[in-house]
Amino acid sequence: MTTTRNNRPDPHGGPTGRVAPIDDAEPPAGSAAAVAEAGGAGPLPAEAGQVSEKEARQVAEAARETAWDRPSFGKELFLGRFRLDLINPWPRSDPADVARAGEFLGALGAYLDAEVDGAAIERDAHIPDEVFHGLARLGAFGMKIDRRYGGLGLSNLHYCRALMLAGSANPAISALLSAHQSIGVPQPLKMFGTPEQKQRFLPRLAAGEVSAFLLTEPDVGSDPARLATTAEPTADGTGYRLNGVKLWATNGTVATLLVVMARVPAGEGRRGGITAFVVEGDSEGITVERRNAFVGLRGLENSLTRFHDVIVPKENVIGGEGKGLKIALTTLNTGRLSLPAMCVGAGKWSLNVAREWAADRVQWGRPVGEHEAVAKKLAFIAATTYGMESMLDLCCLLADDDRNDIRIEAALVKLYASEMAWKIADELIQIRGGRGYETADSLAARGERPAAVEQLLRDLRINRIFEGSTEIMHLLIAREAVDAHLSVAGDIIDPDAGLGRKARAGARAGVFYARWLPTLAVGRGQAPRAYAEFGPLAAHLRHVERTSRKLARATFYAMSRWQGKMERKQAFLGRVVDIGAELFAMSAVCVRATAERAEHPENVELADLFCRQARLRVDELFTALWSNTDSVDVAAAKRILAGRYAALEGGVAAPPAELPWVAGWQPGPSTAEDVRRRIPPLG
Ligand SMILES: Cc1cc2nc3c(=O)[nH]c(=O)nc-3n(C[C@H](O)[C@H](O)[C@H](O)COP(=O)(O)OP(=O)(O)OC[C@H]3O[C@@H](n4cnc5c(N)ncnc54)[C@H](O)[C@@H]3O)c2cc1C
Repeated sequence: MTTTRNNRPDPHGGPTGRVAPIDDAEPPAGSAAAVAEAGGAGPLPAEAGQVSEKEARQVAEAARETAWDRPSFGKELFLGRFRLDLINPWPRSDPADVARAGEFLGALGAYLDAEVDGAAIERDAHIPDEVFHGLARLGAFGMKIDRRYGGLGLSNLHYCRALMLAGSANPAISALLSAHQSIGVPQPLKMFGTPEQKQRFLPRLAAGEVSAFLLTEPDVGSDPARLATTAEPTADGTGYRLNGVKLWATNGTVATLLVVMARVPAGEGRRGGITAFVVEGDSEGITVERRNAFVGLRGLENSLTRFHDVIVPKENVIGGEGKGLKIALTTLNTGRLSLPAMCVGAGKWSLNVAREWAADRVQWGRPVGEHEAVAKKLAFIAATTYGMESMLDLCCLLADDDRNDIRIEAALVKLYASEMAWKIADELIQIRGGRGYETADSLAARGERPAAVEQLLRDLRINRIFEGSTEIMHLLIAREAVDAHLSVAGDIIDPDAGLGRKARAGARAGVFYARWLPTLAVGRGQAPRAYAEFGPLAAHLRHVERTSRKLARATFYAMSRWQGKMERKQAFLGRVVDIGAELFAMSAVCVRATAERAEHPENVELADLFCRQARLRVDELFTALWSNTDSVDVAAAKRILAGRYAALEGGVAAPPAELPWVAGWQPGPSTAEDVRRRIPPLG
């Protein structure tokens, strides 16, 4: 492999030496702030098309919630300001909430234990009606719905605990509950619904009617600017006529209430734009054309759904015309916390299996866990599980206080936990050897403990793709991380800005940087006794403080070097974000372990272990900021795409070429059989 050493890092984080050439490729479609279930961006022009940088920033800003008046810990970290005071002391839940949630979690655990056969759900790819009913009786479909509408009104922390528990019975159950209330109808209504809408829909949902969120289309994945489902206002002005096809809607085969994203055309007196609708799943004109099947999450009720002249009353618009992507994005501010909850659950389960197996299995005269190669994996699984859990709990606790802006933190934990849980599952398979590759049924048939490790790997894989793929999360977080720069210096690098605007921006930036840059040179992390109250973890916090400034210097250097082309430097930005995620995780474990040291003194050891491992990862990421193959890889990819090395593909059977990669669709009535499944109402 060829390595291009573009530059060497200077002691302050910026590189020196030869400046690498910058490629002139077009910016990627969807741009940096693709958000929503897919990623997302907007506000959008009336016609589908590209989303500009500026538009994407405007929408990201629009996702701010009005109650926020405290700075974001994560954002400050990227700016070189280690605001430990924002997370220390470790936030605490309201004791009354804890008691109520404790009762519910106890009942949920008992129900899952006694009544739910997770292996059967996997085998049959089917969650039985009785499980829907059992969950509904417990109130699990209303965990996030306010008590005044019949829900449980759980905090984010306890909601995530419940998802983790449900996911340990079978992950398709937590996916069902999470798609229903993290992105389905309850959350957008809670934030943007009118009192009348809440009254009309929330009690039904809390009682067990299932909801789904439909954004993705065959041609709309990470880039919602191409959204093609239309919502034409009806001639009498009472509603809209929906036409289009929605792909991969989780719960789409069973849901009776849908959030549908559709484009209202601009017209006289209306801006139009992507709009969110609550749609009755049994409306005329809806056909569930397929139930999709996947690598994992076999129990998922995921649909391909067609809308043909579906009439939706105007009272069902959420938040107003053109607000769809803002709604999707804001919903995900906290909605993003559910996937990491399942990842944390996966970490705990893996730790349990790894520990028991590695102590029991003897090879070459010792338990395999005592061989160094396996011991390191055990240490990684334990430390990382503690890291993910601390990050998630911190995010939830921050989110439970309405004053906090947790967009960056929630995005960081989604990104980090989905990547790390995948690594954990991979290491667990390795520790289990051949048994890791064997199905639970096959193990049981031979009389062995049916630990479904291969299923874990399959079930976890999707977390790196949906609710913002890792690539999109990198861009989304990077945008937030450099947003302070863009907001002062944006016009300097904006090709559309005239000389006057550039000059004014230059003056503004001069003032900002004159104040900001000196703060990056020195900080508390350099004082040998700083953070002494954290005892053995103080050195790690000093490291985080120093590294946060180093990261900000590197980002500033890159901004001034690449300017407007910075957003194309996805690999660089990805590493910046990954460093930020590690720093966030280190901060979380240190504060949590210190807060809990009386009850769990052993967790100080875990926090220390996590930080030692994380620091090495951070070192590697910093090295790779300036020593990498990024530009040669991008150049090679262009040649690969042009077919230069196609001969290398010879000698194997390629997938059949007669079908397209993305199936086209025509508007019109469905010709497919309707495969919807209806759960009988609770008796
Ligand atoms: C099991 C499952 C459940 C789902 N549930 C739902 C649901 O309930 N509701 C719903 O609306 N959707 C749902 N989805 C859709 C899911 O959100 C999308 O798969 C996801 O948004 C990615 O879109 P895509 O698959 O079209 O990938 P594409 O957008 O085609 O992307 C392909 C690859 O390119 C990368 N990429 C794309 N754009 C960029 C860029 N600008 N820069 C760098 N890399 C880029 C992506 O990260 C990815 O690696 C589900 C999907 C699955 C598989």
